Amino acid sequence: MLASAKYIAETVLAPSARQNDREGRFSIEAISALGEAGLLGLTLPEEVGGCGLGLHSFSGVMAAIAEADASVAMVYLMHTLAASTIVAAPRSDLFSGILRDIAAGRHLSTLAFSEAGSRSHFWAPVSRARTNGAGIRLSAKKSWVTSAGHARSYVVSALSPDGSGPTNTTLYLVPNEVAGLSIAGRWDGLGLRANASAPMVLDDCHLGSELRLTEDGAGFQAMMNVVLPQFNLGSTCVALGLCRAAIKETTAHLKAGRFEHLGQSLGEALPTLRALLATMVIETDGLSARVDDLVDHLERPRDTTMLRVLESKAAAGETAISVTSAAMRAAGGAAFSKHLSIERFFRDAQAGAIMAPTSDVLREFIGRATLGMELF
Ligand SMILES: Cc1cc2nc3c(=O)[nH]c(=O)nc-3n(C[C@H](O)[C@H](O)[C@H](O)COP(=O)(O)OP(=O)(O)OC[C@H]3O[C@@H](n4cnc5c(N)ncnc54)[C@H](O)[C@@H]3O)c2cc1C
Repeated sequence: MLASAKYIAETVLAPSARQNDREGRFSIEAISALGEAGLLGLTLPEEVGGCGLGLHSFSGVMAAIAEADASVAMVYLMHTLAASTIVAAPRSDLFSGILRDIAAGRHLSTLAFSEAGSRSHFWAPVSRARTNGAGIRLSAKKSWVTSAGHARSYVVSALSPDGSGPTNTTLYLVPNEVAGLSIAGRWDGLGLRANASAPMVLDDCHLGSELRLTEDGAGFQAMMNVVLPQFNLGSTCVALGLCRAAIKETTAHLKAGRFEHLGQSLGEALPTLRALLATMVIETDGLSARVDDLVDHLERPRDTTMLRVLESKAAAGETAISVTSAAMRAAGGAAFSKHLSIERFFRDAQAGAIMAPTSDVLREFIGRATLGMELF
């Protein structure tokens, strides 16, 4: 599947990434191509038609997609997390059917956790579901939803109907056609401009109880055990893909750009540029080693696994900003004037550190864990 992902990245994603970024256009072609290749069901079990592949394959595919287009990579990541949440739910005919549709490339899903009221503290929604006869009624202001308006379903969090405490939550699978759901504005971000991360409003939506993905009160555990580890791994891979793309384009520029009066390329002429490129390579290879280490920790869980989950995304956010900033410097005016794609990588790289759990929150958690304090 990695070869397939690389082929799609090179033939479908890369050629249109620049224009989609400029226009803030969600790539429907990218999702069709990934779906037709079976990649929307990469990690789903074979019994529902998925590829049944593990985190090693997932990380390779994520990084390959991100190297071509980080916007599409984030769409793919949010979809995969939603799919994993559905897999972890008690199996019903409804959920089996949706998983089969995902595996067949007919269903894109995503996560709608963050709320205007609790901002980056996604584990603490302020919306509360209300029981109503056979189902529930749900009103919520979701602040950023990747693939908003393009997904066929949304994994939505809310406080449990009778729960107490800020993390007593429940997860629901909300179909895109449910009455009361609307996309509340256009996405116009600094980076990841082609991933439609718009706000979404649920206004007294009625959901049957069969759409509940977790027991009441068990949403928090699903967020921490199912979503967080894979999200942090996927985010680290998006950062890795961005770093690799920055190295590739910087290298090409240092070879092609010339000082005609010296008869040398930029790279031949300037040791400072070679040193910048070398620093980028060192940081990127370090991040790649982190990905392998995290996959190993997740596949063979041990005491240090949660620490690695937290560390990886924190490190990845900073590394992506640092490497793409170095690329901006090395490619100078050519990057600044948008002759190259490096400025897109630089803008896209800013998102990792502020997407929840943010780099600051991860540091807070790591500090608390190291001191033996409670995280929440
Ligand atoms: C491109 C993009 C796509 C997104 N897609 C989705 C999605 O699909 N689904 C979804 O649910 N959400 C999504 N989000 C939302 C995202 O995960 C965050 O919730 C959001 O970016 C945080 O918004 P904020 O800056 O208002 O948060 P704020 O909480 O206001 O954070 C502002 C600053 O305060 C810092 N801060 C906050 N709390 C602490 C703390 N306890 N200790 C120290 N520092 C702290 C933060 O690190 C940050 O620097 C997306 C965001 C972006 C940018």
